[in-house]
Amino acid sequence: MKIFVVNAGSSSLKYQLIDMENEQVLAKGLCERIGVSGAITHKAADGRVYSAETAMPTHSEAFEAVVYALTKSDAKVIDSFDEVSAIGHRIVQGGAIFKGSCLIDDKALNDIDELGALAPLHNPAHVLAIKACIKTFGKEKPQVAVFDTSFHQTMPEHVYMFALPYEYYEKYGVRKYGAHGTSHDFVSNRLAEVIGKDRKDMKIITCHLGNGCSITAVKDGKCFDTSMGFTPLDGFMMGTRTGTLDPSALTFIAEKENLTPADINHICNKESGVLGVSGVSNDNRDVAAAAEQGNHRAQLAIDMQRYQILKFVGSYVAAMNGVDAIAFTGGIGENDGELRRYVCENLAYLGVEIDNEKNTIRGEEVKISTDNSKVDVYIIPTNEELAIARDTLAIISK
Ligand code: AMP
Repeated sequence: MKIFVVNAGSSSLKYQLIDMENEQVLAKGLCERIGVSGAITHKAADGRVYSAETAMPTHSEAFEAVVYALTKSDAKVIDSFDEVSAIGHRIVQGGAIFKGSCLIDDKALNDIDELGALAPLHNPAHVLAIKACIKTFGKEKPQVAVFDTSFHQTMPEHVYMFALPYEYYEKYGVRKYGAHGTSHDFVSNRLAEVIGKDRKDMKIITCHLGNGCSITAVKDGKCFDTSMGFTPLDGFMMGTRTGTLDPSALTFIAEKENLTPADINHICNKESGVLGVSGVSNDNRDVAAAAEQGNHRAQLAIDMQRYQILKFVGSYVAAMNGVDAIAFTGGIGENDGELRRYVCENLAYLGVEIDNEKNTIRGEEVKISTDNSKVDVYIIPTNEELAIARDTLAIISK
């Protein structure tokens, strides 16, 4: 059985075709500049590549290009899209409505559309992609929605509420929803599996550190707290995002510089974080290289981000009254040994002990704590696409 996984943005579309017999990726690719011009890059698992510039005025033409790449191009992997059993969509915002993955019917599509108010950069694009799939593949092809927020739906009320006047929660649903839930669920599950314990009996902290970053406290097998909030801007410093800061700093800057809410949103999401502080790049590798050359702001950005990560981990130890295991994932979490060492060495008071040799390993599933460590620390590479494909299969098999 083959599952087609879609991660759609407003002008881009990432996809994977996964064979669920062995959970192997058959092909993956990316359509870019949808609505502007259009280009596809498609890679088959055996290394064959197909790329083309082709007009993509809407997501429908992008899916047609994907079908061509999968079934007819030099890098084809199937004869027909009929071989694909279902389509699984990554959906950023499921609000308080979606507690888990679901089949996309008219009501679900309408709800995802309405939740666009809470995720204006993402949900409208997901709706476009779902509608384009119906147009391209027909209504009979099952489509499943897998939400970034649903794993976080178990947070208790006192954890997800903001200390704003209650009416804004009642009127607009303003509260913490979290993000990266599919990754935190996948990684914490896998962590429990490799340790050989039931996740329900563990206190786990998962650190998803990539261009977007979030940390989650998983207690009794469920999300207890997570660093991202109303939107994926909250938490700690990321590639281009601020993370948490005093809101009055923003109202102050807005007044001084005569900025609109949209301007502030743009600055906080796109011009801040590691990029904003360092002035070098949003990519930690470039910033680390600049810091090596003596660039103070680059070093400052690295120091700030590490410190904020440590504070979140420490706060979740407090929130859960302990921690059994910590997992690092995402581009930074899987590759940046220095960051992992910094965090772990500052948790020595908990009995965390890192194996400095193992900690040099990159991007592989590995235990990086010593056998004496009171807390198990692992690198667990995330695989959100596989998690989406598994959920999609589970939903259509019901
Ligand atoms: P992701 O969003 O999970 O793909 O992660 C992307 C980020 O991972 C990049 O922006 C880099 O900052 C970071 N990254 C990748 N490789 C390394 C590395 N070797 N050391 C530090 N950061 C890395």
